[in-house]
Amino acid sequence: QILVIGSLNMDTVITVENLPKDGETIIAKEVNKFCGGKGSNQAVAIARFGANAIMLGKIGKDENGKALIASLEKEGVTTEYIGIEEGVLTGAAFINVDKEGTNTIVVDPGANYSVDKDYINEKASAFRVADYCLLQYEVPIETVELAIEKCYEEDIKVIVNPSPVAQIKETLYEKIDMLIVNETELSELSGIQVVEDVYIQKAMSVLVNKGVKCVIATLGSKGSIYMDASYKVEYQEAFKVNAIDSTAAGDTFTGALIASFVKGGDLKKSMRFANAAGAIAVQTKGAQDSIPMLSDVEKFIAE
Ligand code: ADP
Repeated sequence: QILVIGSLNMDTVITVENLPKDGETIIAKEVNKFCGGKGSNQAVAIARFGANAIMLGKIGKDENGKALIASLEKEGVTTEYIGIEEGVLTGAAFINVDKEGTNTIVVDPGANYSVDKDYINEKASAFRVADYCLLQYEVPIETVELAIEKCYEEDIKVIVNPSPVAQIKETLYEKIDMLIVNETELSELSGIQVVEDVYIQKAMSVLVNKGVKCVIATLGSKGSIYMDASYKVEYQEAFKVNAIDSTAAGDTFTGALIASFVKGGDLKKSMRFANAAGAIAVQTKGAQDSIPMLSDVEKFIAE
């Protein structure tokens, strides 16, 4: 069982001819709603790749929240621990996209910012059934820190995807079993700008030196690389595809990697599987819509 502690958002995508200028009012060409939030995206990815995800997080008492729960249930994600926060709205992102695909995004964290320490303590029973816990940083950082401590005490493996990037207490790094970062997060957390490939391993070793047991870096069209506690490195090339939208590529990769890994695949095989899932995701627009199914990935790898 994989506990996913993170955000649930309803994304509203507003397609416009040109983005509005200061003070301007314009008419939308099209408006669509999609389920999103890194927590919920990664839980969906885990479920689609055939592992069990339990979602921990909060929604508001509103239609968006109900729609998110219904969608997660349809995907086979356990939703019984999700909290309903009175007086705030379900997290939401408002995305304006113009004809060239340029976007502006406003995020209302809403109920995600109410995922506090009390909530985590109330949901102790969820921790008792979990083997792994996956965290991102779209909920308050104190909550992430408490969850890492709690998992460590209960012998639950901790996987962290530090996105959007933020700093946690230095002493917590040694309690992280797997840290999954993209190049921006790797640069920020290591203090080494990975502007050239030669810096990637150096930056990863900084994180290993902080005590992380395994660091996995996603490198976009270059694939992914991992470094373990003894600085052993393994690189997996990306699959060559025609990328049109990288939204949720990282979430897809993370979900795929964990699902494959917990199902008994070794890390190298899991990285190849996750690269394939990411490569499929970048060929389709949208967030959860672009996360493939297990069978799609297996077929893609076999081709
Ligand atoms: P993020 O979206 O979090 O920045 P990345 O861009 O590194 O993450 O993408 C995550 C993974 O998705 C990569 O490690 C790779 O496996 C896959 N991927 C991303 N972009 C491409 C691409 N252009 N071609 C093939 N695979 C890709």
